[in-house]
Amino acid sequence: MDIHEYQAKEVLSNFGVEIPAGALAYSPEQAAYRAREMGGEKWIVKAQVHAGGRGKAGGVTLCDNEHEIQEACEGMFGRKLVTHQTGPEGKGIYRIYVEAAVPIEREIYLGFVLDRTSQRIMIVASAEGGMEIEDISENRPDSIIRSTVEPAVGLRDFQAREIAFKLGIEPSLTQSMVRTLQGCYRAFRELDATMVEINPLVVTTDNRILALDAKMTFDDNALFRHPQISELRDKSQEDPRESRAADRGLSYVGLDGNIGCIVNGAGLAMATMDTIKLAGGEPANFLDIGGGATPERVAKAFRLVMSDNKVEAVLVNIFAGINRCDWVAEGVVQALQEVKIDVPVIVRLAGTNVEEGMKILAKSGLPIIRATTLMEAAERSVSAWKSDNTTNLKAVKA
Ligand code: ADP
Ligand code: MG
Repeated sequence: MDIHEYQAKEVLSNFGVEIPAGALAYSPEQAAYRAREMGGEKWIVKAQVHAGGRGKAGGVTLCDNEHEIQEACEGMFGRKLVTHQTGPEGKGIYRIYVEAAVPIEREIYLGFVLDRTSQRIMIVASAEGGMEIEDISENRPDSIIRSTVEPAVGLRDFQAREIAFKLGIEPSLTQSMVRTLQGCYRAFRELDATMVEINPLVVTTDNRILALDAKMTFDDNALFRHPQISELRDKSQEDPRESRAADRGLSYVGLDGNIGCIVNGAGLAMATMDTIKLAGGEPANFLDIGGGATPERVAKAFRLVMSDNKVEAVLVNIFAGINRCDWVAEGVVQALQEVKIDVPVIVRLAGTNVEEGMKILAKSGLPIIRATTLMEAAERSVSAWKSDNTTNLKAVKA
């Protein structure tokens, strides 16, 4: 789960990371009022969306007075911000953060990620942070500092000092840099984050180290341990199909193709998507309905997949281990009777009681296309989708 910049800043500041003064607004008037309350001479108006690259896309504006703040906000509220991270559809701007503009001397990149190879938290830093970080990692990867943290001892001060030294932080600021690094590390560990990113972390002309941007991602599976973090979820920033699925306990990722997939198990779901591609089709989604493929879950999955109007065929691929195929087949039949489905449905069952399962599908009298192997299922899905499309086209032409 992602959170907004202003939320990540608040979280990190509770762990000792210093941030500029700032306040949240839900309207242009409120933004101007917030700036007046805050005081100062220059402010930065920042669109709160779950994506980076806002600066280059018009989502970060420097303002000299209340009038400019109102104007900047009017141009943002309710609009979709399209950045290189949002995809072409963009993300809606419903909240704006007004922040005191700070005098920047230099911008640093600082990130904490989970390094799967070493199975540790890795600190990634670059002396040249800011909006061009992607170019630096591509053109001068050697200039990036990487340091993994030994989990048994945590981030030690000497390790943090070493990073500060490599970044060329001057001695009078080392302590402040160490505090920042320690704060991020503790927040990452204690809150089950999977990513903490501060870009830029700045050294100001008046010699302070401040986080000017902040991004945090949390492990969904650990959110139950952090109710104060799960509360920060903002569904307006999520793919509506994905949040609907999450609310129903299904693991779903929307894609751009047209063959809907209903599968139990994440590995099988990945294999199903690959096989559809191999057969010349494009999957519309990743969907793992979990171990207990009960009739209710199958029906929920059908409803979810069919709510995407790009879907032109549905492939159900269930492997019954502890489960039983006859029971899953009952579920599919029941779901098809409940949910109105006007596209071809292909079902492949494997595992316990597969023959009984297939018989139930055959006897149901429903127009289900059956398949035995995964390849066959994928090929039949692709050809059913193609022929269904041609009949539809013929119908339109006739
Ligand atoms: P994004 O990464 O989405 O583009 P940032 O929050 O990093 O958004 O803002 C973009 C740039 O705007 C920063 O690299 C920084 O140069 C400048 N900036 C952001 N906040 C402030 C601030 N409070 N004071 C001065 N400059 C800022
Ligand atoms: Mg940034």
